[in-house]
Amino acid sequence: MAKSTKPEGMIPVPNLDGVSIETLSVRSGQIRSPELEHSEAIFPTSSFVFNSAEEAAARFAGDQPGNIYARFTNPTVSMFEQRIASMEGGERAVAAASGMAAIMSTCFALLEQGDHIICSRSVFGTTNVLLEKYVKKFGVSVSFVDLTDYEQWSDCMTDKTRFLFLETPSNPLCEVVDLERVAKIAHQGQHEKGTLLIVDNCFCTPILQRPFEFGADIVIHSATKYIDGQGRCLGGVVIGSNDLMDEVHGFLRSGGPTLSPFNAWVFLKGLETLSIRMKAHSESALTIATWLESQEHVEKVFYSGLSSHPQYELAMKQQSAGSGVLSFRIKGDKAAAWRFIDGVEFISITANLGDTKSTITHPASTTHGRLTDEDRLHVGITDNLIRISVGLENVEDIIKDLEKGLSAASCSS
Ligand SMILES: *Cc1c(COP(=O)(O)O)cnc(C)c1O
Repeated sequence: MAKSTKPEGMIPVPNLDGVSIETLSVRSGQIRSPELEHSEAIFPTSSFVFNSAEEAAARFAGDQPGNIYARFTNPTVSMFEQRIASMEGGERAVAAASGMAAIMSTCFALLEQGDHIICSRSVFGTTNVLLEKYVKKFGVSVSFVDLTDYEQWSDCMTDKTRFLFLETPSNPLCEVVDLERVAKIAHQGQHEKGTLLIVDNCFCTPILQRPFEFGADIVIHSATKYIDGQGRCLGGVVIGSNDLMDEVHGFLRSGGPTLSPFNAWVFLKGLETLSIRMKAHSESALTIATWLESQEHVEKVFYSGLSSHPQYELAMKQQSAGSGVLSFRIKGDKAAAWRFIDGVEFISITANLGDTKSTITHPASTTHGRLTDEDRLHVGITDNLIRISVGLENVEDIIKDLEKGLSAASCSS
């Protein structure tokens, strides 16, 4: 199998040992073609040619490194994989067509019939559906637990538990879990192949939080969110040890949810500005969260960067800032929340997040609408909850727009 991403004729860039994450985000993983292009090239090709029948045979046999077919490897995709792997501090990354394709590929690659997984209740809604409806069909059992209830995580462990899956901070309530503590629980697992902690790090990105430093075994991203950062492309990526990623890559090349080179190129360019964007998103989100907390018609604000957050110390140990997503409960009912959302002018009503454009959403009737009323309340998604993904518009302008929402919410009833 072709593992190398430096096929003959390609010119690797200089050694980057010891540089900071900002430098890695701009420089790492680049492979120059003999054209010596400065910016990363897109290779929109489905297959690659060989110089001889013998070379073709050697490539297929895995005796010679190099590209064969773009479902297996593509230079633009490989550049993205190497760059994000270096930023997370993992050995290898495997890119996928979407965040869900990344999660699905991890499941299919690592799980066997009879295995068991434990998943936080507060994960991305579709992750819930994937595990509960589809992964279960193949004879894998799933336990859902409350993110910060460590006893539940421990109590659910069996000798068949293959992995623990979570997001921190959670969406949309920004709950923070102690990664070292859950990693410790995972690593006491008795599964014959080992028990892994998998962290979906989509909200923070490696700029704000690097889960491997706290004991995670696999990190997953929906690149669709902050890594693109401008709402253009779907993509995902899984990062981990060479051994685990061989398995994930093996599933991807057979199952087929490969990332397109065009999208990989957009993500490569997105990574180059990720550090300044994440800092700007976080700074504005903190300003807005603080402002919301002081508003009479706001009941409660949820943001991991606020010093009033119940796990603020833990959050600031694991994260360098709070990221751009926050939520709050408006005083009143669902109608008040909807009036708020309809009252803002330029903030987009969309369920997407991690965009330069600020977005606003009503989780109870959109992203979490498929949950039963009981499950929704159990995870704290009340009808008066509103989520905002703070974009890169001027923060005073965003606040002025939110003021319009506030007055719409509080005027009639
Ligand atoms: C959006 C999202 C996903 C799914 O990613 P897609 O690229 O939409 O498939 C997974 N996890 C989290 C936390 C997300 O926000």
